[in-house]
Amino acid sequence: MTTITLSLPCTNPTFLSSSPKRFRINTQSSAQLSPISSSPFQTPSLPKTGVIVIGAGLAGLAAATHLNSHNIPFLLLEASDAVGGRVRTDIVDGFLLDRGFQIFITAYPEAQRLLNYQSLNLRKFYSGAKIFYDGQFHTVADPLRHFWDSAKSLTNPIGSPLDKLLMGTTRLRVLAKSDEEILTAQELPTIDLLKQLGFSHSIIARFFRPFFGGIFFDPNLETTSRLFDFIFKCLALGDNTLPANGISAIPEQLAARLPYGSILLNSKAVSVDLNTSEVRLQNGDVFKSELGVIMAVEEPAVAHLLSGRTALVPKKPARSTVCLYFSANRDQIPVADPVLFLNGSGMGIVNNMFFATNVAPSYGPPDKALVSVSLIGVFEGVSDDELVGRVTGELSDWFQEKMVGEWKHLRTYRISFAQPNQSPPTDLKKDPRLESGLYVCGDYLTSATFDGALVSGRRAAESLLKDRTLTPA
Ligand SMILES: Cc1cc2nc3c(=O)[nH]c(=O)nc-3n(C[C@H](O)[C@H](O)[C@H](O)COP(=O)(O)OP(=O)(O)OC[C@H]3O[C@@H](n4cnc5c(N)ncnc54)[C@H](O)[C@@H]3O)c2cc1C
Repeated sequence: MTTITLSLPCTNPTFLSSSPKRFRINTQSSAQLSPISSSPFQTPSLPKTGVIVIGAGLAGLAAATHLNSHNIPFLLLEASDAVGGRVRTDIVDGFLLDRGFQIFITAYPEAQRLLNYQSLNLRKFYSGAKIFYDGQFHTVADPLRHFWDSAKSLTNPIGSPLDKLLMGTTRLRVLAKSDEEILTAQELPTIDLLKQLGFSHSIIARFFRPFFGGIFFDPNLETTSRLFDFIFKCLALGDNTLPANGISAIPEQLAARLPYGSILLNSKAVSVDLNTSEVRLQNGDVFKSELGVIMAVEEPAVAHLLSGRTALVPKKPARSTVCLYFSANRDQIPVADPVLFLNGSGMGIVNNMFFATNVAPSYGPPDKALVSVSLIGVFEGVSDDELVGRVTGELSDWFQEKMVGEWKHLRTYRISFAQPNQSPPTDLKKDPRLESGLYVCGDYLTSATFDGALVSGRRAAESLLKDRTLTPA
């Protein structure tokens, strides 16, 4: 076992990130990082110390980005073989398979500040959905973007004309509030909010349950109204998109801006010593930080890492999902539209599906279509083969059986911890300070979204810098 005082810029080759496929490391010199302290008692081999960030999901990357922008040396430790955490994409037979169905909403405010949208080459979804109900599809559409589709849908059985009017008033209500007001407002379960606003049973069951239930992985819509309002506002202001190179292009863009060698992959932290700010890795190495440690791991991993010495233990069951991917010939799919299909029938296990290559053709080889199907829950005890059978059986009712029968199963992702459970009571502005020199960040401290994770990472870094008087109060 070795104890390594964190020092950047580093020349030790073990600090160099091993590059996963498509992962671009910036070759910019880390020499730009200026020392925080240079004690005369330090030996030249231990030049300077900084911050240890544990976990390279969006929260950890945002924390690292903030530290980097203040020229604070840091080391980002990641247990897995690439950055991104829950935001990862695998390449399988020429298809881009996001680890679970994920949508990037362009109006996320923190994302707008941090990301270069142009180089993400974002591909838009249709602003609306096709809902399977009573044996056929019915369109719901955003009247501001698809006026005629929306006008035609006024009389469909998905909701009443009053429901469609209420959609408009809900939009105005959320747009009139700041994000701060939304995230700290009085809260109630989303289902109760929808009923209180006067939405009919039909639109709740046929649209809100599959749509927002799919976003929150919560078919009962128990998730806080704060999150509902925040997402509703972002949807009103922005587009639903996918980066052309897969959802992992988002964390990869953040990682590529960090100094060379500042990310250490395949490096699982197993303990954090609160007295010494030492972090021990599974392989026995110990890293020491002078300024503090930011834990950017997912909610269930926090208590584990601190051996239970924290109140940050999940008290509600996590939200889970299963995503199944199929390949098809491009002439074996029913539509060319970049539209989301929702199950409004109240029956079956499919919640939503779409043809990813219709949104971003780069998600598959030129002549192929990528079919993405999402379920809510993990379906423990149901084998992968049985899931494939049930899903293709259901989709044969949606589309032609002959067509669906030709689809080839590519992969199934079972994600037991997809999102923290954010049913009331929630506190979406939790203090990132855990103890002196120890900070936490992650989507469970803010909103369970890409944006929430980014915000929490920045807040943890800001708190550390403020406590160390490295930035003005
Ligand atoms: C299937 C799915 C679909 C989603 N869809 C959307 C969507 O459409 N829109 C949206 O806004 N949000 C969506 N989300 C939520 C969003 O992905 C998360 O809120 C966000 O990515 C959380 O980021 P994070 O950094 O807080 O946590 P994570 O991404 O979980 O990152 C934690 C990191 O810590 C690492 N780690 C854990 N333990 C250790 C350790 N001991 N040592 C070192 N490293 C460790 C992990 O490997 C991981 O990389 C979705 C999530 C899932 C799973």
